[in-house]
Amino acid sequence: MTTLEIKDLHVSVETKEGAKPILRGVDLTVRSGETHAIMGPNGSGKSTLAYSLAGHPKYQITSGTVLLDGEDVLAMSVDERARAGMFLAMQYPVEVPGVSVSNFLRTAKTAIDGQAPALRTWVKDVRGAMEQLRMDPTFAERNVNEGFSGGEKKRHEILQMELLKPRIAILDETDSGLDVDALRVVSEGVNRVRSTGETGVLLITHYTRILNYIQPDFVHVFVDGRIAEEGGPELAERLESEGYDRFIGASA
Ligand code: ADP
Ligand code: MG
Ligand code: MG
Repeated sequence: MTTLEIKDLHVSVETKEGAKPILRGVDLTVRSGETHAIMGPNGSGKSTLAYSLAGHPKYQITSGTVLLDGEDVLAMSVDERARAGMFLAMQYPVEVPGVSVSNFLRTAKTAIDGQAPALRTWVKDVRGAMEQLRMDPTFAERNVNEGFSGGEKKRHEILQMELLKPRIAILDETDSGLDVDALRVVSEGVNRVRSTGETGVLLITHYTRILNYIQPDFVHVFVDGRIAEEGGPELAERLESEGYDRFIGASA
């Protein structure tokens, strides 16, 4: 049983004009087996939360705590966070020249487990995971993120998540709109990981579309760097029909 506990988190981002406060007191607890959707209007700080949890240097934690089973996540390096079982999909968003998907996955797995995976089972696991994601086997030989389409990036992300078996997975769907095919891939991956009961999922999304495929256990609505409302899946349905207007109006 894993618990990620975010308490009264305040985060500022470095800008040319100085530090700008974005997160203004976020409280959130995610346990293994639970799927939490973070929703909210553009600019409300959803990605800032993801980057802060990932340890991105541009985001300064000004106060608050993040604990993973009681361990201070904010004191950990990016690598230590990964080894502790946190999967942050945006951790390697850039191209990794000359590194194949296959080598990249094996290196990540080795770093996280502290030992190289046994070759025979590993090859089988990778093949199986790729098949499930309906990925062509040749994809494993391509260089990470080099010329990946949006859908391929998502598949690669989910492939990592499935193979690394994190305790907490944080997926930022960004606002750039996934096609239906990519949505389905992400959803199926999340649902598979979820069904193991061993991973807590924090799914960050602007749109309600993905929630047609994933039924979250909890929905949190972000407005102006805070959680403005929380509920179960019915809250997502309400947002689908009403949008975010009532929250934006309330905070103006
Ligand atoms: P969301 O993911 O909900 O759309 P973000 O976390 O991306 O929101 O952004 C929240 C606010 O923080 C926005 O006003 C955005 O302009 C600002 N912000 C985020 N990252 C940066 C950055 N690196 N530099 C400047 N401003 C930023
Ligand atoms: Mg945005
Ligand atoms: Mg965002």
